[in-house]
Amino acid sequence: MPNPNENCLEGMVCPKCGSYGPFRIEISTIVIHGDDGVIDDPNDKHWDGHSFCGCCDCPYTGSVEDFSGDK
Ligand SMILES: [Zn+2]
Repeated sequence: MPNPNENCLEGMVCPKCGSYGPFRIEISTIVIHGDDGVIDDPNDKHWDGHSFCGCCDCPYTGSVEDFSGDK
């Protein structure tokens, strides 16, 4: 069965249970932050192959690279 992820999670699959997500991914982002909290989230988020990634369907955790499938 072809991997259905073709957008943000392109090619990603859990190497343990085969889930196609969603996954818990550690991201870095820039927000507009005032004294009382976040004022605006410009939605500019980044992760790479070394970012933490966890499966929501099983306890497996690793890096995004570990979830990159065989593409
Ligand atoms: Zn899994």
